[in-house]
Amino acid sequence: MAKTDTDVKESLPEFSRADYGNYINGAWCEAVSGKRGDVYDPGIGDVIATVPQGESADVDVAVGAARRAFDGGSWSKVNPRDRSRLLLRISEVLRRDRDRLAELEVRQQGKALAGALWDVEESAFIFEYYAGWATKISGEVPPIGPDALSVITKEPVGVAALITPWNFPILMAAQKVAPALAAGCTCILKPASDTPLTSLELGRIAEEVGLPAGTLNVLTGSGSTVGMDLVRHPGVDKISFTGSSEVGRTIMREGADSLKRVTLELGGKNPSIVFADADLEQAIPAICQAIFFNQGQVCGSCSRTLIEESILPQVLDAIAEYVKALRPGYGLDPETTFGPLVSRAHLETVSGYIRIGREEGAQVAVEGALPEDERLKNGNFVRPTVFSSVRPEMRIAREEIFGPVLSVLSFRDADEAVALANDTNYGLSAMVWSGDMGKAIATARAVRAGTVWVNDNLQAPTEALWGGFKHSGIGRELGQAGLEAFLELKQLHLRTRA
Ligand code: NAP
Ligand code: MG
Repeated sequence: MAKTDTDVKESLPEFSRADYGNYINGAWCEAVSGKRGDVYDPGIGDVIATVPQGESADVDVAVGAARRAFDGGSWSKVNPRDRSRLLLRISEVLRRDRDRLAELEVRQQGKALAGALWDVEESAFIFEYYAGWATKISGEVPPIGPDALSVITKEPVGVAALITPWNFPILMAAQKVAPALAAGCTCILKPASDTPLTSLELGRIAEEVGLPAGTLNVLTGSGSTVGMDLVRHPGVDKISFTGSSEVGRTIMREGADSLKRVTLELGGKNPSIVFADADLEQAIPAICQAIFFNQGQVCGSCSRTLIEESILPQVLDAIAEYVKALRPGYGLDPETTFGPLVSRAHLETVSGYIRIGREEGAQVAVEGALPEDERLKNGNFVRPTVFSSVRPEMRIAREEIFGPVLSVLSFRDADEAVALANDTNYGLSAMVWSGDMGKAIATARAVRAGTVWVNDNLQAPTEALWGGFKHSGIGRELGQAGLEAFLELKQLHLRTRA
């Protein structure tokens, strides 16, 4: 059922345009140049906020503040217990402000509200989880004999620049800020230009809970200026980046002169493998959700579905039903299950791939609806699209589209499924559906990816880990591995012989 103008307006709370500052050295400030950039609501196309447009001079100020707080300054003097308490306080405030932050996330990113509420809740848990780690970063005493004592400690890596994408703005920020602070690092958070608002809100929370000045700095500005300057800056020790593989490569290259430590969480062209003996009642909604959730703007989304030949027609029919039932609309409307893409530029990229798929000779098996509401006519909506008759060499089978476009391929046996699954430069995630646990596990083990879900989808528990093989990244986030990414090992060698 199409929504009327009034319905959508009623679901849009009053929201006055906000002008944010950057949060640097414990204070709110303009960019040195005084320039500002606009932030759009992708559902309706209006400007909802402005933020400072930082440049090199702002990077120097932010790095200077983070350096001072780290090098014997305020944060270096906070002991692990107090670090832990501060992280717990951040978690509490995130929960207290959950509804407001989730609404802001919808306004700047477009996602359906239920997802945004989950993102804020999970961000709160991430801070809680790493609060626990702050008091448990223990070292080792290896047995080197009677003449000396060797003590291995884990030290914070230093000043960390945290560069995040726009698909899960607050969640990605939490995923980096919490372990960095737990480890004792100071940081500069550089959010994606399309979605800086909830990261700036994290700055507000840091201020409220009394994080020492310079410990968390939030700096807005474009990736090619502020991002690149952070990567090259000699005062930054570590880059933790989530984004495209292309920018990941640039970061490694440009960070090489200053030997930056890097953690890179990059793209994917992730396969879901569905065997004929799978429980299709569970598998079909799972494979659909894995590509249409957040409009496919999910690094772990499974954009290639590999289906055992004998069940291909029935699975395609069931996918079509799912797609037709999606409810495109404004993210704050409770009936919406499918929102807009994040930006006009991204809409053009995704629409371009849908054109390429047709030109390459793939069949459009089904395409979903656009919202009918006039109020959303300037929103960045695209039809969810499923291609069948896709051949492995087609661009829609190889390149990351990062939108609601599913490429369906078929296979005859497990060996062919694994070969197709691994026929990609990427290796972030994969999904295997089968009623035969032995076959499912063997297949999961053969797929080269950082996470493989067996009879489940898109789970990335904070207590576990997340990250990719091959061109999908270097290093891991979340869990203990996510903490270690902000630590250096150090050996103290203490002579004990006379
Ligand atoms: P992107 O263009 O790589 O941008 C990501 C972030 O990097 C943004 O903050 C961007 O700033 C900044 N940036 C851009 N160019 C830079 C440069 N030369 N130096 C330093 N920073 C730079 O990625 P995106 O298009 O926003 O996000 C989509 C991509 O992220 C997809 O490929 C997706 O798979 C990946 N992703 C991966 C994960 C994961 O966990 N593996 C999670 C989410 C997304 P601006 O916004 O100002 O350009
Ligand atoms: Mg980009």
